[in-house]
Amino acid sequence: QNGSFRNDTIVAISTPPGRGGIGVVRLSGADARAIALPMLRLKHALEPGRVRLAKIVDPESGEVLDEAVVTLYEAPHSYTTEDVVEIACHSSPVLLEAVLRGCVQAGARLAEPGEFTQRAFLSGRLDLTQAEAVHDLIEATTLHQARIAAAQLGGALSKIVAPIKRRLVELIAGLEAGVDFAEDDLDLMTEAEIAARIESVRDPLQALAATYDYGRIVREGFTLAIVGRPNAGKSSLFNRLLVRQRAIVTDQPGTTRDAISERMSIEGIPVELIDTAGLRTAPDGPEGEAERQGIERTNVAMAEADLVLHVVDGGALTKDIDEIVVAEARPYLRVLNKSDLLSAGVGAEASEGAIRTSALTGEGIEELKRAIVMALTQTATPPESAVLTNVRQHGAIMQAVDALEIAAVAAQDGLPHELLLLDLYGALDALDRLTGATSADEILNLIFSTFCIGK
Ligand code: GDP
Ligand code: ZN
Repeated sequence: QNGSFRNDTIVAISTPPGRGGIGVVRLSGADARAIALPMLRLKHALEPGRVRLAKIVDPESGEVLDEAVVTLYEAPHSYTTEDVVEIACHSSPVLLEAVLRGCVQAGARLAEPGEFTQRAFLSGRLDLTQAEAVHDLIEATTLHQARIAAAQLGGALSKIVAPIKRRLVELIAGLEAGVDFAEDDLDLMTEAEIAARIESVRDPLQALAATYDYGRIVREGFTLAIVGRPNAGKSSLFNRLLVRQRAIVTDQPGTTRDAISERMSIEGIPVELIDTAGLRTAPDGPEGEAERQGIERTNVAMAEADLVLHVVDGGALTKDIDEIVVAEARPYLRVLNKSDLLSAGVGAEASEGAIRTSALTGEGIEELKRAIVMALTQTATPPESAVLTNVRQHGAIMQAVDALEIAAVAAQDGLPHELLLLDLYGALDALDRLTGATSADEILNLIFSTFCIGK
């Protein structure tokens, strides 16, 4: 399909480096079978889709190196759509390299990074967004990320874009026909009709572009800052949420001068948790300098956080809880900590709408986690449809939206269709880049099939 498509046979070790139960060497290309065979001593001949036990032999000395299971996938029913042979042997780096060397000596070329997936793309088995999903799936650090990547690998994004693009192609074809055969008695679209059709393409793309924010959060995670007065139990809560011990807990107020942060996952959502220095007025003069810096960093962390946990000391309730101002407009949760020190009835007022926890006993921690997830998913509701997960996809969609915007204005202003078409082609080009397709033939086919030009 593509001129740069190379027809040689490629080989790579497909499992991560190091020792493990099994390691897989993968071959793809027309000669995959021929290259693998001299290294294999098989009881039963290779058959597509069948797993075969084999001994790996040094092709020159005939010496047995290992036992392996070998699978042949015959074109086009393979990951790359070419013949693929997978040799799964014991994962010792020396052994895997010996197999790799054997393949290269027999004529295979070492695969470039991502080249198996590239071949799947070039053969048309995967589009570009799906190929990117393969990468996202491998890189996923939480199950939620993996789920979104899997949906994209399944073509979720392409399926949404396809009908939108179809409408754009139809519009272009219609305008082209009008432009090229203006003297004919073709039904020409009115300006209002054209503008409406441009919007029907632009609006869903805009909605799709908006999912990028959620995609970014899924990929990069939320930031959660824990703030509050010294000694309220911020570091203890931080450790509780993290499970493992990290922040230094002391009964000396003002210990955590530097913001400490850790990545964790709450119900599959990646979260960067930041433990901050206590919020209080630093002493004047040079002795307060370090503390002032800590407070400054706290303010920065708070301003950048997606959610703030405001921790209040339940063992030392004062009336001035609200004295600490959570950075303006940041969503926050109030946590009344040291619930174990609260006697019945005490702090009822203070704990209004607050989540009661005890970092000491663990009481209320699960509730706190649930409240965090609730608050975070309110900040960003998962879109029902596909999610844009990378900047390239977002850029392509935005470029299409921008071009359509200009085209819509041009249509309303009644500019010549030749000018309109330039922007519509720009939008189509951007969508083509999203999936890695090319629509030129599609337009021609439409022009010639849906319009009876006949002359
Ligand atoms: P920070 O200054 O806000 O980070 O507070 P720390 O986490 O360092 O805790 C200050 C003190 O309060 C330490 O002695 C902790 O052991 C104690 N502490 C923290 N959480 C609780 C709690 O829920 N109950 C009780 N009784 N003590 C706690
Ligand atoms: Zn602390």
